[in-house]
Amino acid sequence: MQPKIYTVDEHRILPEKIDSHAFYVIEKLREAGHSAYLVGGGVRDLLLGEKPKDFDVSTSASPEEIKSLFRNAILIGRRFRLAHIRFGQKIIEVATFRSGDTEAPDLIVRDNVWGSEEEDVLRRDFTINGLFYNPREQTVIDYVQGYPDLEQRILRTIGQPDLRFIQDPVRMIRLIKFCARFQFEIDPPTHEALLNCKEEIVKSSPVRILEELLRMLESGSARPFFHLLHEYGLLRSLLPALSSHIEQDSSQVMMQLLQEIDEGVKQDRKAPDRSVLLAALLFPMMHAHLLQQIEKTGQIPHLGQIAEQAGKLIDFSFSPFFKLPRKLQGAASFVLASQYRFVPLDGRLRKPKTVGDPFFSYALDLFKVRCALEPDLLPYYEKWDELPRSFSYEGEEAGLARPKRRRRRRRS
Ligand code: ATP
Ligand code: MG
Repeated sequence: MQPKIYTVDEHRILPEKIDSHAFYVIEKLREAGHSAYLVGGGVRDLLLGEKPKDFDVSTSASPEEIKSLFRNAILIGRRFRLAHIRFGQKIIEVATFRSGDTEAPDLIVRDNVWGSEEEDVLRRDFTINGLFYNPREQTVIDYVQGYPDLEQRILRTIGQPDLRFIQDPVRMIRLIKFCARFQFEIDPPTHEALLNCKEEIVKSSPVRILEELLRMLESGSARPFFHLLHEYGLLRSLLPALSSHIEQDSSQVMMQLLQEIDEGVKQDRKAPDRSVLLAALLFPMMHAHLLQQIEKTGQIPHLGQIAEQAGKLIDFSFSPFFKLPRKLQGAASFVLASQYRFVPLDGRLRKPKTVGDPFFSYALDLFKVRCALEPDLLPYYEKWDELPRSFSYEGEEAGLARPKRRRRRRRS
């Protein structure tokens, strides 16, 4: 198939917008006789005039050839083997062209069959993600009509949508992600396939889905994403307790918390820690549950009991499909329970005192988000925020600076 080539006069991507390390990687691969392009989300975002989150490279070189060319490359992934080339904090992902059977109606468990440039495009998910960019020639190469779809703001699978969702149900989550992020229209056949295949979602890898959910919580478009995930019924399969809570909660507190977090991210603030994001998802459900329990039993649980319930609620909400990493689960549980330390359920306010827990700052982060929805909480937040934070070295795990250790002088 002949691709359509767009020149710089048409696509107007400014070369200086391209990451210099990605450019270096592509040039080095080309000098070694391989073909290599910028691909995927990076090209899409450049064409949309947005700042790409990452730059991915696709090449004819095999993972081993990539590794031998770059000293700073490591090979990762079993299902999808690729090279990570590290430049300080930054990683350029370099994947070998894949072929993959795009017609087979089976779940893809491995995707490591090398192929041609065109085959590589055809096994990608959406047309807007299937564009190559050649930095040397400054051309955009389009095998899948991705360029006009981007212009018309249409989300369309490459190939037959039902098949593509069955082969890899995570693509449905990705469809919703792009819908939430860019507010593009979904092409009718792709839309129909999403409705037909939504139950397939539980066949995909929980680790991959959890990563997509967490990334979306950090993205600045968490509210529209979770809203759509719920509307399309995928949340019911993945997080049924949360989905039921959203249906019952007319005031939509969870969505309001997400909106507040989104606004922070959009104003160029860093997203809160993942434990805070998960706790924000579950806090309104936990609060409703605690109030119900108090009404039923007439007894107010103490902090220890609340902490235990927070742990159980996380377990209950994320199982049976997901298994959260232990550290994340522990931190989220602490963040949830601490909300009742800041404002106790019995209404009796204690004097704030320093809490020696490394996750204390995270708990305050969620409390601050809640303050935007309930301004009456702000004076409590300020009191707690004034406290000095005294943490042990574990604080480092929580993103806090490690206290400086004195070195003993060696005696000469
Ligand atoms: P983001 O801006 O969030 O990084 P992205 O589209 O770049 O979005 P990546 O996860 O970085 O997402 O993937 C890079 C590219 O790999 C995609 O643009 C797409 O071409 C391809 N891709 C990713 N996931 C899949 C999948 N599940 N099936 C097919 N192709 C995929
Ligand atoms: Mg990307």
